Amino acid sequence: MAEVFDVAVVGAGPAGVAAACRVAERGARVALVDEGFRPGGQIYRHREGRAPAAIGEWMARLARLKVDVIHRTAVHDALRLDGKFQLRAESVHLEARKIVLATGARELLLPFPGWTLPNVFSAGGLQALVKSGLEVAGKPVVIGGSGPLLLPVAATLAKAGAKVELVCEQARRASLARALPWLARSPRKLAEALSYQAAFGPSRYRTSTWISEAIGTDRLEAVVTNSARRVSCDFAGVSFGLVPNVELAVLLGCELRDGFVVVDRRQQSTVPGVFVAGEPCGIAGVDGALGQGLVAGDAACRDVTVTADVEAARGWYEYKPPPLLRSFALRHEVLELARADTVVCRCEDVRLSRFDPEWSAREAKLATRASMGPCQGRICGPALDAILGYGADCVRCPAKPATFESLLIPEDRK
Ligand SMILES: Cc1cc2nc3c(=O)[nH]c(=O)nc-3n(C[C@H](O)[C@H](O)[C@H](O)COP(=O)(O)OP(=O)(O)OC[C@H]3O[C@@H](n4cnc5c(N)ncnc54)[C@H](O)[C@@H]3O)c2cc1C
Repeated sequence: MAEVFDVAVVGAGPAGVAAACRVAERGARVALVDEGFRPGGQIYRHREGRAPAAIGEWMARLARLKVDVIHRTAVHDALRLDGKFQLRAESVHLEARKIVLATGARELLLPFPGWTLPNVFSAGGLQALVKSGLEVAGKPVVIGGSGPLLLPVAATLAKAGAKVELVCEQARRASLARALPWLARSPRKLAEALSYQAAFGPSRYRTSTWISEAIGTDRLEAVVTNSARRVSCDFAGVSFGLVPNVELAVLLGCELRDGFVVVDRRQQSTVPGVFVAGEPCGIAGVDGALGQGLVAGDAACRDVTVTADVEAARGWYEYKPPPLLRSFALRHEVLELARADTVVCRCEDVRLSRFDPEWSAREAKLATRASMGPCQGRICGPALDAILGYGADCVRCPAKPATFESLLIPEDRK
């Protein structure tokens, strides 16, 4: 039997934790489900007993409240049945009257020669490994790609004792300068950026620079930049921005615009009863995620089923990327780094030469098996969209890797 909750929240990052706390404070029965070992999400990922001060207050609030926290549980399917929502994961099936999706974002990985070598990670992936205990003290590292995320990643590595040799930002200095007036109005963000740079050394941060090749035999030994500079390193972390995790929202029928879930000012999607908070409805940073989580939690406890209201609100509540993010628009050079023999879909080992730019994403999938592996296109899908303009394919269950047994509905199990 699936357990029935008033509200089920998927994702225990800042948005999901805030939503679950608010629901519990209103006296409703709430489950908070996350695939990680403990709440915190990407920014506050931590080891047992070492919660960063910034999330400590939220952790204490969560612990005080009656929230059923379900860890290490990746929800691979979400559907509406008999007026209730069902969330399906490997070990549990949950039922809830309302749902809050706070599934965050993942990184955009663009293929380049050597990117599949051991010890080449995504920037956030490398940061996550270090937060989980990977030993990098004294080791040379290079961080590359694009976006504000490169700064905290480089700072985390430097604080862990790594020698941050270079932080390569593909955007031009002039493009980043256009965000300065916006940053000047957000002194806290500016101070944060400067403190990150101070941690790894501002002179290591290079604009108009990217890793054009990773070199090594059985593991990474060096990277080569677009100016033909060779930098020896043991680890590289490379990513080119964030892609919202909207798969569960799409499975539930929520409308997207420009890749983000459309929500009204109470964070309700176009599907009544499905609320979305944090990165899936716009890349807005941790403060935005916390605020949206509180609003979504609040709204999920009230009887909010007014589709007409969503329609009316949609016009003005349209997500626009903050000027800071627009400054990191990708240059054509980084979209052209992959060579004919570069692996693009690493699950199915498909090289760039196999793809025909005239295909749709569906045709590419059928002809090459790209995106049919364990990641189900979560990595190569956005990359193929960026470099070949394939556009998103439809989303199907499972949204996360799952065993066949867990895909069966309970009645089908012997
Ligand atoms: C890899 C990475 C590293 C980042 N590091 C930093 C940083 O150091 N500093 C900074 O300022 N910002 C960082 N950010 C940006 C930061 O995550 C956002 O600014 C903001 O905190 C997002 O909050 P959120 O609650 O929307 O999402 P997140 O914090 O991403 O939380 C989403 C949670 O949902 C879980 N989840 C997703 N799908 C499922 C599913 N199907 N089933 C179960 N659980 C699921 C995820 O595991 C995650 O715990 C990072 C982003 C990424 C992608």
